[in-house]
Amino acid sequence: MAGTRISFTDEQAPCGKTVGGDHFLDDDDDGLLIRDEYYSCGCRRIRHEYHDGSIQVRAIRHDGKPVKDGYGPDHGC
Ligand SMILES: [Zn+2]
Repeated sequence: MAGTRISFTDEQAPCGKTVGGDHFLDDDDDGLLIRDEYYSCGCRRIRHEYHDGSIQVRAIRHDGKPVKDGYGPDHGC
């Protein structure tokens, strides 16, 4: 799969800092959608939408600790 990388300059990382980084976007014909964010401080935010409508969201701080992101796969039904 060929993804798209888009730089950003001022976004809030999971650790709370406002930093720059890269968005990484990818999808395929089956409906999989990947939207990952890589922050310059080392934090990551991962969002994967699957063809059945389920969404996996994960935020990982630059120190390796997982972060509760305010919403999860069972939220918003
Ligand atoms: Zn961070």
